[in-house]
Amino acid sequence: MRLDIVNPASEEVIAQLETDTKKAIQDKIALLRKGQNSWKQVSVKDRVACISGFGKLIQQNKQELAETLTKETGKPLQQSLNEITGAHNRIDHLEKYARKWLANETLIDQGATLEYIQYEPLGVVANISAWNFPYNVGYNVFLYALVAGNGVLYKPSEYASLTGLAFQEYLYQAGIPKDAFQVVIGAGEVGQFLLDAGLDGYFFTGSLKTGQYIARQVAPKMIPLQLELGGKDPLYVMDDVVDIKQAAINAAEGAFYNNGQSCCAVERLYVADNIYDEFVKHFVEEVESYIIGNPDSLETFVGPLTRNHQRGVLEQQVADATAKGAQLEIGGRKIEGKGYYFEPTILTNVKHNMKVMHDESFGPIIGIQRVSSDEEAVRLMLDTEFGLTAAVFSSDEARAKKVLAQMDTGTVYWNCCDRVSPNLPWSGRKSSGLGSTLSSQGIRAFVQPKAYQMRPA
Ligand code: NDP
Repeated sequence: MRLDIVNPASEEVIAQLETDTKKAIQDKIALLRKGQNSWKQVSVKDRVACISGFGKLIQQNKQELAETLTKETGKPLQQSLNEITGAHNRIDHLEKYARKWLANETLIDQGATLEYIQYEPLGVVANISAWNFPYNVGYNVFLYALVAGNGVLYKPSEYASLTGLAFQEYLYQAGIPKDAFQVVIGAGEVGQFLLDAGLDGYFFTGSLKTGQYIARQVAPKMIPLQLELGGKDPLYVMDDVVDIKQAAINAAEGAFYNNGQSCCAVERLYVADNIYDEFVKHFVEEVESYIIGNPDSLETFVGPLTRNHQRGVLEQQVADATAKGAQLEIGGRKIEGKGYYFEPTILTNVKHNMKVMHDESFGPIIGIQRVSSDEEAVRLMLDTEFGLTAAVFSSDEARAKKVLAQMDTGTVYWNCCDRVSPNLPWSGRKSSGLGSTLSSQGIRAFVQPKAYQMRPA
């Protein structure tokens, strides 16, 4: 079968790729199974050296890679460049910490019984990935898995396949053996072949629906599974923010960067009653100033959505909200003409009986709700099945921390939002996922401990 790669800005087919058959995938797995035995014998230092070389190649070829990312996902070129530059921080982190977190740990080294822990790779793992930030979410898994000595079968999203193939090319150039890393190309049915294959770990980034399906498939196999899923992340702007305009600018960026197609995009805004009107005014002005259009231009901030069908989801959210009394401040419709464009959309006077405040939007749309106390804000922020991130803007650290302590999310932010650090674990609670990537925990996610109890004769 052939997979058409469509440019979301022009709707033109820009490439056609041969998808992997079940047989081809079985052959790749057999290759990886053999190769992983050698790869795990390579020292962590040398494995990290390969990853460093890969990072250098990516940075050297950044412009071309960014153009490819923009062509296949519609991400504005400046944001593609930012993603490639920014994702390098994962490599810096591995260079600093991989040896520390993968080394044996000795607990008792004298007396009758010596005790230590050895961290062994899982084996051959599947990395089923998303398209919205393929560098960030891909690196979080396949680079860490390789450094830990695993073989990796990487399935990019069908919407980021060219980027996935570029990863493969540069990993090989950097010295990662072909029998340690393989890409598989195709859509959902190819993902299904991977699930049927019985690998040694499944690491999935994507939607809740697919994540739940994968969890059901993997559970009887008793194999490690990690899920990085969606969110409906809230931001609460307190009445004590020093600069309301700046708060509005920062909140708008958190909501509309990458067209809102970020797992940790701000998807719900709660604003204190006495600054609400001024905040909304600045927020609307800021979003109206965004340049919408051709993603190949460095000036563009809002390009097309990656997937055409998401525009229908957004239209339904707007129709549902306005029918229930929300005020449409700007946007609300598809932009006519070529490309999967949707107007940046702001809804005010929203309530929690509206889809826009409950369901993941994953697009350029935000609901802003007025709140009259911290208690009301906390109650609304907690009213979600998701638990990825939550943010507070305030000049009062103690007050912000009191709210953040009550959040049931893997990450909390004070005066920032929509950001990921390789130093900290990236994890979702409830319907946002299982397990962690990044930080020491994200390195240890790709190994299994073996406890040694040793009595010298
Ligand atoms: P999907 O769930 O649609 O797809 C994710 C991956 O799963 C793709 O590679 C997809 O293949 C594959 N897939 C689809 N069906 C199956 C199946 N039956 N068996 C195995 N694999 C399958 O998610 P999206 O790609 O649309 O990503 C967007 C979602 O990802 C959002 O919900 C977002 O919040 C979340 N996300 C979470 C992150 C986090 O860190 N928590 C980070 C980034 C995104 P194909 O695309 O080829 O069909």
